[in-house]
Amino acid sequence: MGWKEWQSSLVGLLFPGKKVCPICGQKKTEVYHKGICQNCASRILSISKMEIVCPRCGFFTAGETCPNCRYWSNALFQVGSVVPYEGVFREMIHDLKFNRKKENAYPLGYLMACRVKDLGIADIIEAVVPVPLYLGREIERGYNQSLLLAQVISEELKKPLWPNALTRKHFYQTQTVLGRKDRLENLKDAFEFAGKEKKVRCVLLVDDIITTGATLVSCANVLEERGIKRIYGITWAAGYSVKMMEKLENII
Ligand SMILES: [Zn+2]
Ligand SMILES: [Zn+2]
Repeated sequence: MGWKEWQSSLVGLLFPGKKVCPICGQKKTEVYHKGICQNCASRILSISKMEIVCPRCGFFTAGETCPNCRYWSNALFQVGSVVPYEGVFREMIHDLKFNRKKENAYPLGYLMACRVKDLGIADIIEAVVPVPLYLGREIERGYNQSLLLAQVISEELKKPLWPNALTRKHFYQTQTVLGRKDRLENLKDAFEFAGKEKKVRCVLLVDDIITTGATLVSCANVLEERGIKRIYGITWAAGYSVKMMEKLENII
């Protein structure tokens, strides 16, 4: 199946609740794990294994210089992502966030955990920390999608979940209208440490997507102030260059 078909592969998305793989629609339950078939899981994981990803922020650069992470604080050591934010991959996270499809957290969280293992950092992670929503948004939605993903990842990696390490302090101007520098400024004071101090040196931050990285950087700065030495991030999807899509077409 080529990338074009993938993009229009909405079989599973059209039949929620059926035991079908949300990517290819196959029903063979023996290869079905965490809501996705093993064939699709390994195809999806092969995307980020190719050497066309920025090793620092996970942007799908296709070998070009990464436009994303030049001005990052050192608090955020490395971020990995599973897929480019496009097509069926965008649909899946969109449905988790906005269409109450909480079951999507299983395949997505599972693949995110696999990506963490592929990056070779699974063993050193001591706690899994979801990026919080601000309270009003969480009440409105009824759940925090990053927490759902973090739960699955914590289970898969067998690492403790630290769900209340951070809170989001105040309402901020909507991010979408802002550039990279403004987003960082906008989020500078948005997060606050809320957990009890823990003797933890290395954490994995979990968010649904990474765009400029401002959210994860802000969270990492707060955790670093609390003495956490190594902070990694994992997201389902990341930005990509147009070249990336051309390469993907040849590989999958
Ligand atoms: Zn499948
Ligand atoms: Zn980068």
